[in-house]
Amino acid sequence: MRLPLSDPQHGLRNRALIRNVAYIGGDWVGSDDGTCFEVRNPADGSLVAEVPNMGAEETRRAIQAAVVAFVAWRRFTPQQRSTILRRWQQLILDSADDLACLLTTEQGKALNDAHAEVLQAAGFLEWYAEEGKRLTGGVLPTSHPGRRGWVLREPIGVCAAITPWNYPAATLARKFAPALAAGCTVVLKPAEQTPLTALALAALAEEAGLPPGVFNVVTGDGDAAEAIGRELSTHPAIRMLSFTGSSEVGRQLMRQSADTLKNLSLELGGHAPFVVFDDADLDVAVESAINAKFRNAGQMCVAANRFLVQDGIHDAFATRLAERAKGLKVGPGLTPGVLVGPLIDHLALTKVQRHVDDAIAHGAKVLTGGQRFGRDGTFFEPTVLTGVTSAMIVAREETFGPVAPLMRFSTEADAIAMSNATDYGLASYVFTRDISRIWRLTEAIEAGVVAVNAGSFTTEAAPFGGVKQSGLGREGGSYGIESYLSIKHVSLGLG
Ligand code: NAD
Repeated sequence: MRLPLSDPQHGLRNRALIRNVAYIGGDWVGSDDGTCFEVRNPADGSLVAEVPNMGAEETRRAIQAAVVAFVAWRRFTPQQRSTILRRWQQLILDSADDLACLLTTEQGKALNDAHAEVLQAAGFLEWYAEEGKRLTGGVLPTSHPGRRGWVLREPIGVCAAITPWNYPAATLARKFAPALAAGCTVVLKPAEQTPLTALALAALAEEAGLPPGVFNVVTGDGDAAEAIGRELSTHPAIRMLSFTGSSEVGRQLMRQSADTLKNLSLELGGHAPFVVFDDADLDVAVESAINAKFRNAGQMCVAANRFLVQDGIHDAFATRLAERAKGLKVGPGLTPGVLVGPLIDHLALTKVQRHVDDAIAHGAKVLTGGQRFGRDGTFFEPTVLTGVTSAMIVAREETFGPVAPLMRFSTEADAIAMSNATDYGLASYVFTRDISRIWRLTEAIEAGVVAVNAGSFTTEAAPFGGVKQSGLGREGGSYGIESYLSIKHVSLGLG
């Protein structure tokens, strides 16, 4: 099949990055029954590629390849592993323009956001290539004259990663980089909407010299995705399952993993409060809101979902945010100047419209936006709603779209109560110039991240993850590699 991306007009410079076959045990392979699923460009619905629709059998082979590869990979010195990961990082940097183009074509986000995400993925490899060299054990204090004890930190074994479509490069690297640096091997199942970025990364891993079977990518859609997920969560050889996606699927994978007692990392949904106090710097609050709400068309687990604005600044903030939102360029991510790309598919468009219609029906006021943008594609207007109450769906559920619902509050205690009135606890944002209040809020808000006077916070150095039903475990920084290590106590009798 001729892929549109390999067309010299739409071109990637390095067409070898376009892979429409899966990667198992170092081989590029189709599905056993030859079936494929379609990857479509959300900007115009055009066919980008057909990718193998695999199932349990192919997944078992990938796991077996990873089991075999683990024997040798764990014996590489940390320095040897680091050298390969750094080579991979450099290849990603060299191909950043092509990878960003591929990512935008299958996912939709603005090209410069895609580019930033690719650099972030490379950043995880760089970070963990170094972190892997600094994993030390320890010698225990002597508790018996005839015995000595020490602690080893060892790779946990074969790991599975299941990832979503909204960050098709960064969410992957946040898992495979620490896993591989720790000496584990990996079977990855990327989201069905965005397998091409994952396969391009695998092509670069191969070029970097990662041995066959150390990193495997299996692809599947719908029932096939579920079958792959079941195999990855029930197979006894998988010792760690790292999942990023919806809370519903996270719960299902946790239940399925119970029989084989796997280690789990779950990065699930969020419902971030964005709290603006009267004393906030209005410019900073508005620009941060644009960042935290409208990039990636609001399809971010860390997106600001509930804007809680204090009475005294409410109207000024609402007016300024609506003005800025109205001026944002909406369109295909490859078009220069675009900030808000398409939603991932028509289902997402219907959901966002349903949330907005429900808010309007219950008395919310539309300051800007409120409906589909244009007649084709899955674009939605950047939307600002005021008069939102906790009875409305936008205030209770993750909308995953470019919709900013504003609610008022009077006191700090109200702001804290409203922020925590959710089952989720991933990201949160606070805007104030009062240092004492900053301390109080950062302690009181139930979330894995509190961004103060900032609309973005991602760095490979920081721990990332949620509390409550936003998930389990932390990725990133020195914390993120711990999930891929097991601790062994060695006790030596001196004789
Ligand atoms: P999703 O749960 O539908 O899909 C995520 C992955 O799980 C995909 O690879 C999909 O194929 C796979 N999957 C789907 N059903 C499965 C099943 N039954 N068994 C095994 N695997 C299955 O989520 P999505 O719609 O792709 O992503 C959006 C959600 O992800 C949002 O809720 C968002 O908040 C969340 N998310 C969280 C983070 C985080 O770090 N906390 C980051 C990004 C996205």
